[in-house]
This record gives sequence, structure tokens and C-alpha cells, in this order.
Amino acid sequence: MSHAWGYGPTNGPDKWGEDCPIANGPRQSPINILPKEINFDPTLKPLKIKYDPSNAKGILNNGHSFQVDYEDDTDSSTLTGGPISGTYRLKQFHFHWGASDDRGSEHTVNGIKFPSELHLVHWNTKYPSFGEAASQPDGLAVVGVFLKIGSANPRLQKVLDALDAIKTKGKQTTFSNFDSKTLLPGSLDYWTYDGSLTTPPLFESVTWIVLKEPISVSPAQMAKFRGLLFTGDGEAPCCMVDNYRPCQALKGRRVRASFK
Ligand SMILES: [Zn+2]
Repeated sequence: MSHAWGYGPTNGPDKWGEDCPIANGPRQSPINILPKEINFDPTLKPLKIKYDPSNAKGILNNGHSFQVDYEDDTDSSTLTGGPISGTYRLKQFHFHWGASDDRGSEHTVNGIKFPSELHLVHWNTKYPSFGEAASQPDGLAVVGVFLKIGSANPRLQKVLDALDAIKTKGKQTTFSNFDSKTLLPGSLDYWTYDGSLTTPPLFESVTWIVLKEPISVSPAQMAKFRGLLFTGDGEAPCCMVDNYRPCQALKGRRVRASFK
């Protein structure tokens, strides 16, 4: 792969292994979740999420997705409990989605794809920074939330309204006073397993926490995601769609459930 990674035929997930040999490693993500084969683990604690809306600072089109970035210099927006020990700070959240509503999530459940998946990325404060945590086996914890077609989700609207200002790669704008906790479903029941980043460098540093209950999104709201571009100003426009990595082999890993 002699050019930057992406999701196209020449630089997509099938080619990432050329620059990132860990693409074929033992704990890659995403995976297909088979609920019937997953055991309830009574030792798993409930998730504790404390997010300060004033920590949201900006929204960026990074050329692969868009992300909402958080101030992470204090413990004011944190994830604790669940399968993790210690305190993890919220760094950013982003989404993956399809060109149509029949695909787009990274994790699947019984082989079923959802139209989108939200990732809330946190880093372990036993390390000095996100950058240093990102390559450690216990460095990151990502909460994954499926989006399912249904009624329009008013809690997504502020995010979607910001997308017009960041249509092309590299654009960013301020984004503040947003409580990302409102994006979570009513139940915080989850599946958890040891995995990886789903984009290069594919570091095997993520404790995945995938919520069982999806949140809703309308077809019109999904269309709004697809109005973004992978490309920058002055390039031939290419719609930002199908920015998901397919499922990877489980390779003997155990997936646990926080619920019966
Ligand atoms: Zn992601």
C-alpha cells in the first residue's frame, strides 16, 4: 500500500496488512457477536459513565469519519467500572456507517449488520496521555453503540447539524456544551472482549464494551452522515460511506456478557 489508508478497493481493509502486519494479529476487531455462545460473567461490574458536557470542544472531518473531540486534561469525563480497572478518560467519539441502511456497523450480532455504530474512545489514565496509552494492551476502552433504523433521534441532531460545516477532509469547527451521555441507550448491558483499533495502526490496545441495546436513527438522519466527503477541497468529491472494517477472526478469545 503505497498511499494513505482508506476504505476503497486499492487502500481498504484488505490492504491494511501491507503496512500494518498486526492486521492479522491475535486480538483484532471488530468481531461478529454470537449471543448464544457468550456466557454471563457475574464478576463484571456495571459501567459508570460521568461525562461533563462542557468538555466537548470541536468536531473534525478526519477523512475517514468525523469525530467530536473532548478536553482530556482532567478527570471530568470518565469511564470506570465494567470490565476495566482504574479510570479511563473520554477522548473523542465517532461513527462508522454504510452507503445504505443494510450495512455500516463494524461489530455484527448473529451476522446482522446495523446501519451505523458509534464509538466512544477512552484512555487509561495510568498512562500519561492518549498517545502513550493507545499502544498498550490495557490502554484504551471503547464503548460501541449500534444505531438501528427507527424514529428520528433528537439527541443526534446537534451532531448532524454540525456536519454541514465540516463536509470535506480536514475541516473542523467548534462544538461545545454537548452531553454525549445522551447518545447512550436506556440499558448499559454490554458484551466485552479484548480487541484492537479498527483503523490503522490497528493496535491491540482496546477493551471493547459493546452495548446490547441500539439507539434509533431515522433514514433521513442516516442520509446526513452520507453527505460528508472522504476528500478535501479541490479533490474530486468522494462520498464518505462504508467506512467500516469487516469482522475479524475471534482466534480463541472469550467474549463475556454483563447480563443474563
Ligand atoms: Zn471506530
